[in-house]
Amino acid sequence: MSIIFKRTKILATLGPITNSSEMIEKLAAAGVNGFRLNFSHGSYEERDQQIAWVREAGAKVKKPVAILQDLQGPKIRLGMLNENTPVKKGDEILLDYAAEHSGLTFPVQYNLAEKVKVGEPIYIFDGKIRTTVIEIPSATAIKLRVENDGTLMSKKGINLPDTDFGGDILTPKDIADLEWGASRDIDYVALSFVQSADDINNLRQLLVSHGSTAQIIAKVETKAAIIDETLEEIVKASDGVMVARGDLAVEAGAELVPIVQRRIIALCRQYGKLSIVATQMMASMVDAPEPTRAEVSDVANAVIQGADAVMLSDETANGNFPLETVAAMKKVILYTQDHAPVSPLHGALTIDKKQRDAISTAAVSLAEQLKVAAIISETKSGATASNIAAHRPNLPIISVTSEARAAQQLALSYANRSYIRPDSAEAGLEIAQELRQEGFFEAGATVIIVSGQQPGVIGMTDTIKVRVLA
Ligand code: PGA
Ligand code: MN
Repeated sequence: MSIIFKRTKILATLGPITNSSEMIEKLAAAGVNGFRLNFSHGSYEERDQQIAWVREAGAKVKKPVAILQDLQGPKIRLGMLNENTPVKKGDEILLDYAAEHSGLTFPVQYNLAEKVKVGEPIYIFDGKIRTTVIEIPSATAIKLRVENDGTLMSKKGINLPDTDFGGDILTPKDIADLEWGASRDIDYVALSFVQSADDINNLRQLLVSHGSTAQIIAKVETKAAIIDETLEEIVKASDGVMVARGDLAVEAGAELVPIVQRRIIALCRQYGKLSIVATQMMASMVDAPEPTRAEVSDVANAVIQGADAVMLSDETANGNFPLETVAAMKKVILYTQDHAPVSPLHGALTIDKKQRDAISTAAVSLAEQLKVAAIISETKSGATASNIAAHRPNLPIISVTSEARAAQQLALSYANRSYIRPDSAEAGLEIAQELRQEGFFEAGATVIIVSGQQPGVIGMTDTIKVRVLA
């Protein structure tokens, strides 16, 4: 077989270095399956331009590509300081939502006085400066004791590992951003600093009320979110979960992250949800044309664990080698999938006890017994294709849908290659024959086609066909 598809997908963050139609097209051609628009930066005009460029690139390279809107959530930052300001262990400083910088009073972009309690830890600048809340002296200010020497600078991030947002993490900026996004061609909305399933349910309600058809990705990066039952509830409430290893390491401790990653990927598979491993996967490639051994190993491990997608952040947003990074990642993915296939799930998924899952389970088991070349799924919403993917069969999943949104969402789903075609009872077989013409299937290859008697009706998957291609 000459054409090989990656099973694990690549999600790349756009940024200054990749903000052009040429770069986006090159990234898509190099193997990017989805682009993240980070709403912590940038204007709506820039976003509209990027969305148009991504859609053009998808059309040129002839594959549906996902667009993910990453909402900032309560990602709190210091405001502008007059100058970099050193602080010492034992100093008492004020973070004030209503003040300018002066001495040891620092502006902050969020009214922390409404959320934090005395005794809680607050980390500034990726955890470099650790502090404790000692007083809430006004309705807009909190007083902190500094625990170690360091330097505060403008706009540095603040982490609140023990602060309970009580199901209220969406900021006015997030609400404006999601309203804006609801009328755009966006496939996924990710929410940062999720603490509970309530945060996801609130977001879903807002998205639905604004007519969005995007699916929701929970970014797991808080201590609250990784408590056993909470994590499972978050997985169930979301359409997918991102292991947001950057902030998670600051908030919960870096040593927890690999184990949390494995738990999240396993839970997502069990519930048929998308899993994304994010942050520092190829971080050294911001400055170097080759990854480190540790980075190669990190990507390979995410593949072996069965993640749907691996994400690039600075590497493609600000790095000097964005295309080399994607190429290096793709090489690791292809080698690893070939030599250490993901262990398949045996039996049905945990919650989806519907007919669809019974059919998927049977299709995957039939595919293994008959050693077919691919499973082809005629799907409307994409649910059948992602359900099949959750089993992690060691072969391509070709999905055919009439819905561009579903095809674009499936771009990030494990082993999936999606095609957009009008609803028809022959769509699956026609795609198989096209792929046969292109040389993806050899003459005599067997495929399995999963479909419904009524093409185009959601939830009606009821047929498994075995076909040998001429
Ligand atoms: P971010 O999220 O890049 O938006 O911070 C990912 C992470 O924290 O790892
Ligand atoms: Mn984060």
